Amino acid sequence: MTEDLNQPVPLDASDQAGENQASTKKNQETPGRALFGLDAKALAARMVEMGEPAWRGRQLAEAIYRHGFTKISEITTLAKSLRHKLTDEGWEVGRPEIVQTFQSEDGTERYLIQGGDGLTVETVWMPEGDDEETGDESEPETTDEATRRHQRATLCVSSQVGCAMNCQFCLTAKLGFQRDLTAGEIAGQVVAVLDRHGVEVGRDRVNLVFMGMGEPFLNYDNFMAAVRLLVREVGLSPQRMTVSTSGIVPGIERFAQELAEFRPRLAISLNAPNDALRDDLMPINRKWPIAAVVDAVRRVQLRPHERITFEYVLLGGVTDRIEDAKQVARLLRKTGLSVKVNLITWNPGPGIGYSLPQPEAVEAFRQTLVDAEIPAYVRKSRGRDIYAACGQLKRTVEG
Ligand code: SF4
Repeated sequence: MTEDLNQPVPLDASDQAGENQASTKKNQETPGRALFGLDAKALAARMVEMGEPAWRGRQLAEAIYRHGFTKISEITTLAKSLRHKLTDEGWEVGRPEIVQTFQSEDGTERYLIQGGDGLTVETVWMPEGDDEETGDESEPETTDEATRRHQRATLCVSSQVGCAMNCQFCLTAKLGFQRDLTAGEIAGQVVAVLDRHGVEVGRDRVNLVFMGMGEPFLNYDNFMAAVRLLVREVGLSPQRMTVSTSGIVPGIERFAQELAEFRPRLAISLNAPNDALRDDLMPINRKWPIAAVVDAVRRVQLRPHERITFEYVLLGGVTDRIEDAKQVARLLRKTGLSVKVNLITWNPGPGIGYSLPQPEAVEAFRQTLVDAEIPAYVRKSRGRDIYAACGQLKRTVEG
């Protein structure tokens, strides 16, 4: 575990990305003989290998992704003999499991979710996630939808165990990078939590934000494979998903090439008004400064009404001054992009020496952006009492 906050982030992040690509094949192979993580096509191929018709693959996919079966013995749409055959050959459903739950007084829940090798990651459920937070600019819900329980819930999902980015205000950074999550481990967090809350996909409106532990664009292939699983097999809409990056330019460039049917919305974790301050707060900026990030973002073809979200953590006396807000406004207007800003009041963590911004400073910052015609929203901090808030995720139980 990395405890030294002054330790520089490896600025060979592209090399790490390269390693990730090299290890992608390995990561995409589901650990052991887990079915979870394989899409319907891959499941069909396994069925054919076992001498079964290919359509059994679709049946299996529906059982594990839509109906939430976690044991092969429970999948009664399959003949008993096939269930035995699968088990005899060492297959299991292998969906990641919630091993611990922390409940906040505001209704937020934080989970430790365990993958195949026993390592845990954190996932957060916010029952009253708000539209500003999730980038939801779709049509307002109908009265019928408005009565549904999970109409505005938001699920915050991790993409790596720990993180290499070393953002100075973030508790996850203290873990250092431990490993990438597989596609099944990323999608499994979502399916396990939706299952826990009895969410009906297609009726309930749940938003996903890939803003938990890790930098999704340094685990690009597995992250996008998870998105495709969630869209194709689980039935979630990519327009209700937002991925946040600290500014990995090659990742943003690849993201810009994705088909709209599988492309989540994009958020850039900005957090500073200029390169000098961002270099200090987010060492990745020394490799890819703000202008390079913005250039890459320009390549993303936005859907009608879609905007790029810029996330901005307000650190008391460091990034929350009116002059900072004016600089952010100038910077964003200059991009010519359709943008909005989500302001996040910094959430404290042990060993991180910043202060909370004053509420008046937060409001003045927001108003300065709005006056400059930049839509800006203050994200409500949720689950701070259980270390579930933004930048606070750090495993409580070491795997
Ligand atoms: S803010 Fe995000 S990218 Fe930065 S260290 Fe924390 S988890 Fe990693």
